[in-house]
This record gives sequence, C-alpha cells and structure tokens, in this order.
Amino acid sequence: MNINPFETAKAQLEQAAQIAKLDANKVEQLKFPDRYVEVSIPVMMDNGQQKIFTGFRSQHNNARGPYKGGIRYHQQVNLDEVRALSFWMSFKNAVVNVPFGGGKGGIIVNPKELSVGELERLSRGYIKKIYPIIGPEMDVPAPDVNTTGQIMGWMLDEYQKCSFNSSMATFTGKSLGSGGSQGREEATGFGGVYVFEDVVKSKVVDLPAGSKVAIQGFGNVSTFFAQAVEKLGYKVVALSDSKGGIYNAEGLSYDAVLAHKKSAGALKDFSGAKNISNAELLELPVDVLVPAALENVLTGDNAEKIKAKLIVEMANGPTSGEADAIFEKKGIVVIPDILANSGGVCVSYYEWYQNMKHESWSKEQVLNKLSTQIKQAFADVHERQKKYKTSFRSAAYILAAERIIDAMAA
Ligand code: NAD
Repeated sequence: MNINPFETAKAQLEQAAQIAKLDANKVEQLKFPDRYVEVSIPVMMDNGQQKIFTGFRSQHNNARGPYKGGIRYHQQVNLDEVRALSFWMSFKNAVVNVPFGGGKGGIIVNPKELSVGELERLSRGYIKKIYPIIGPEMDVPAPDVNTTGQIMGWMLDEYQKCSFNSSMATFTGKSLGSGGSQGREEATGFGGVYVFEDVVKSKVVDLPAGSKVAIQGFGNVSTFFAQAVEKLGYKVVALSDSKGGIYNAEGLSYDAVLAHKKSAGALKDFSGAKNISNAELLELPVDVLVPAALENVLTGDNAEKIKAKLIVEMANGPTSGEADAIFEKKGIVVIPDILANSGGVCVSYYEWYQNMKHESWSKEQVLNKLSTQIKQAFADVHERQKKYKTSFRSAAYILAAERIIDAMAA
C-alpha cells in the first residue's frame, strides 16, 4: 500500500486540533511548509561525464527558532516525503521544547553507487545551491538516512566558503573533531529509554522488570535503546537488521549479539536464537515493541496481529493512521515518534548551542541534560493525554501545536 507521509502528518495534526479545539486558521497554516525549493545539482562523475541530481529543502515553520532538520540521501527521496519530514521536525522540536522550527532536505541518489569523490562533489554541489537559505540563525541541517558526520564536514566547509560565515553552528551531527557534541551518538536511543522509564513509573502500562522487548533494527537508534533497556532489567528477546531477525524467548545478550554481528556481518544464524523475518518480529508475543528501523511497518495489514501492550516509536513514522486506530481500539499504548525519538534533536540543539557559545560539554553533562529535558516532555504530553483522555500521539500534537501557535501569535 502506498501511504503518502505528508497526508498522514496532516491527518495527525487535524485529529489533535479537533480534540483540543485549536485555532483553525493557525492549524491550516501549519499544514503547509513556509517554503520549499527543488534544486538541480550537476556533478562531474569519475568517468568524465556530467550527471544532474535533484535535491530538495523544505522549511516548514520557524516561529520558535531557526528551521532544523536532516538531509537524506536515498533513491526514493521525493518532495512529499521531505515536506512531511520537515513538518514532523517542527512538532518534534516543540514537544521536546528546543528553540527550533522544522526543516528537512534530501537528494534523490543511491549513495552506495557513488565513489567518495563523487559523494563529496554532490554534497558540495547541493550546498552551492541552498547556501543562501541556510545558516546558524536561519536553517540548521544535520545528518539523516545515509548522510554522515563526514558529509556534514564537507557541507560545512562549502557553506563557509560560499557565505563567508565561519560559524560551526550551521550544521549539527558533526564529528567531535569538527565541532560535534559528546553524547550525540547515544542521544536518540537513550532518550527513548528515558521516556520508557517514565511511562513505566507513571503506570501507564504495567511492565515489571523481566518483561519482554522486541526491537526492529540494529543500527544507531536500536543498539543504544537495546543496551539501555537491558540495563533497566528488561529482556530483549528479538532484534533485526535488513537481512532478517533473531528471536529467543528467554532473552538475547546484547554483547554476544554485537560480537556475532561484527564477525558474521548480519544478525541471522546467531547461535541460541531462531531466525525470523522482520514481519514476524513485529507480531511476536512480547510486552513492548520498538520499531526502530523504517517507516510504515505497522499498517492495517498487521495491526490486528500485534501482541505488545506498549509500542515505542523510535523510527520516524512507523505507524499508519489505520494501524493507529486499531491500536487505540485494542488498548495498545503508542508512544509517538515525535516524543520517543526526540533525544537526537535535543542533543543537536546542545551541539548548536555549544558552537554558538564556543563551549564544550562532557558526555555526562549532555546525557543528564537530555534526561531532564525529555522526561519533562513526557510529563507535559502525559498531562494533556489525561486532560483530553486521548492517545499519546494526539496529546503530543496538542502540546506541540499549542507551543507553535503561541509563538506564531507572538
Ligand atoms: P541506521 O541506519 O543506523 O539503522 C537502521 C537499521 O535498520 C539497521 O539495522 C538496518 O539493518 C535496518 N534496516 C534497514 N532496512 C531494513 C528493512 N528492510 N527491514 C528491517 N530493518 C532494516 O539508522 P538509525 O539512525 O538507527 O535510524 C533508524 C530510524 O530512527 C529511522 O527511521 C530514523 O529516521 C529514525 N531516527 C533516527 C535518529 C538518529 O538520531 N539516528 C533520530 C530520530 C529518528
């Protein structure tokens, strides 16, 4: 099924607006990005031939601060996806209360088909086209799918040359050596577990230690989530990567799985666990399900078969509107992406702040600040969830929309 992410995003906002009777004119404005650009990027390929790539940047709303959001390199990047992602960034930043609006960019490309030189020329070419509309006080990009600290380094260098602005704060997600922040790697996964801790503490769902957790993914977000949730005494029983998943009802040891992945290159065939598909992982008899890889994995096709009591959305947009309605009917609690995975952008804000002030914080400082800030975001969302007797998703949208609309009115 082809689900348009921008339509999903607008429907989520509309639902929240009706519940909380938000200002209809402002809500209508929020359904459209302030602006978006499409750029053509000529790149001289290694074979001496020129190829034209297409890139986008969408700037959704900057009432609360500069536009902020990643740049994605993928063959399926398209304008609707970029607009939806920029929309979600405005709401995510408002939920976790960092002074940023929402932006997102992307280039239609499979970066695995490019040489390092071609990748660098493409990244610099994109910045040559968009540098007039980005900057530390205007729009602050970051890595997203298939973009890295190295790519941010090339982009920052190109931006500095084109704009005569030497600030490091135009990009976040940089490597530590080029102005990145301690704790950025752990931020999203650990942030999700800080929220999870408070979901349990506030008895939204009864989850005694030893409860079973299935996590889709074994990348940046999922591995830090797995480590931290295991430390809290929960049993991670399933994990997966693009080649499939592994399952042991008695629990997997994170360190042993990591060693296997490093030596075998994939999770499958880990001794002491059964191989399963990514689809089977989602339907396992577990207490907590954590989609932490891809969008649109929970849909009308599998929602009835989900057995978890709690879903923590660490990926962006893993649940379709149809699946959301089924979960609500079944009493499955969903902690939405714009709250659960907001730890990443929270630490991106700390990086921007450290660059602006020429400061450098320790990892402990960063993670302590993150824990306080994201737990406050959960408390604020929970308060609205109780007040409006609604889902955590609608409550998060209500909180974010209230904050953005206040700033727009001001
Ligand atoms: P990553 O590239 O580090 O890891 C992605 C994981 O997904 C890998 O284990 C990969 O093998 C797996 N995967 C790829 N294709 C798959 C498939 N078809 N089926 C199942 N698994 C598959 O990415 P990440 O940074 O961990 O991001 C994961 C999700 O979290 C994405 O939706 C991303 O947008 C979201 N997110 C990431 C951050 C962050 O700070 N990294 C912040 C917010 C949201």
